[in-house]
Amino acid sequence: MKIEKISVTVFKIKSKKVNDTDGHTHPGPEHDSEEAMLTITTDDGHSGHAFGSPESLRPYVIDNFVKKVFIDQDPMDREKLWINLAKWQRGSGASLTDRTMAVAEMALWDLVGRSLDVPVWKLLGGYREKVPAYGSTMCGDEMAGGLATPADYGNFAEWMVNRGYKAIKLHTWMPPVSWAPSVKMDIQACAAVREAVGSDFPLMLDANHWYSRIDALELGRGIQDLGYYWYEEPMDEHSTESYRWLAENLDIPIIGPEYAYGKFHTRAEWIASKACDISRVGVADVGGIGPSMKIAHLAESFNMDCEIHGGGAGNLAVLGAISNARWYERGLLHPFIDYDEIPSHLNSIIDPMDEDGNIPMPTRPGLGEDINFGYIAENVTSAY
Ligand code: MG
Repeated sequence: MKIEKISVTVFKIKSKKVNDTDGHTHPGPEHDSEEAMLTITTDDGHSGHAFGSPESLRPYVIDNFVKKVFIDQDPMDREKLWINLAKWQRGSGASLTDRTMAVAEMALWDLVGRSLDVPVWKLLGGYREKVPAYGSTMCGDEMAGGLATPADYGNFAEWMVNRGYKAIKLHTWMPPVSWAPSVKMDIQACAAVREAVGSDFPLMLDANHWYSRIDALELGRGIQDLGYYWYEEPMDEHSTESYRWLAENLDIPIIGPEYAYGKFHTRAEWIASKACDISRVGVADVGGIGPSMKIAHLAESFNMDCEIHGGGAGNLAVLGAISNARWYERGLLHPFIDYDEIPSHLNSIIDPMDEDGNIPMPTRPGLGEDINFGYIAENVTSAY
């Protein structure tokens, strides 16, 4: 089996989400947007697919890096292909990102899974049939009835509990919200949610990511007193020493890093430096499923949980194959967004949640995406 063809299909989708000036996602008016599907095909007719942004799969990066490394190679040799692709990052002038690598590597996994008729989480070494989800809110906003006040967070938490979620993570207010960031308001929102869900319910906080040490410590003490379960990314993560200092000064578990560059090397540094109590990895953040598994096993070797950043097929596959993560991050959720709505390019969502708050592992081969190829073919905006 040899990789013969790599192609990208960019297609039109409808979106009800908009980004603010700092890049955070909020509900917005329905508008046209685009999504891209990377397809890898072998000489014996097998295919694998993975989705990404058109920007991350633009012709330049596909032609100069992904095709150069993958064409004529055996898709079973995922470790070799991933390492050879990762080496190109240094000389790519920052063009080849971890996100592009993740989509390319996920398409390889999907191809192999489909060719063997096995779900990827089983290929990785199956550990569980389902995983509990936590409801992960969008960042705070200034919309009436949205996530504009501590009471809004409390009301929405009540809705999430009724929907079946067994844990909740808040993203609170960040600029460009006019008065944000505010440690005091963050603590009030966390208190309102604690009040709404009761004392035993697991709650987590992911606040403004650019607090100073003193602000991060004040906020950490506030949510520690409210019995929160983990504290995520209150400062720039590229300062490992700041997190070591924070972890030393708080009892609440510190989780991270999430977005800091450096893949497994950075996670190892954080663990060795005692900068975190729980490790963190997302498939899109570290270049794919393979490096995510390395990080989960690294953390396991230190008797440390490794919680997974974000949802989607790749992250779900990792969760199906590791023992040291407790939750699937389901979101981002908002009172104005119907998370269960099926996107046009899929026939069903990858992460339906039952009334007990569990996500079943996919049974379809490969990554398990239920792709509506007909919709994609009818809505192509460019293909290469
Ligand atoms: Mg986060």
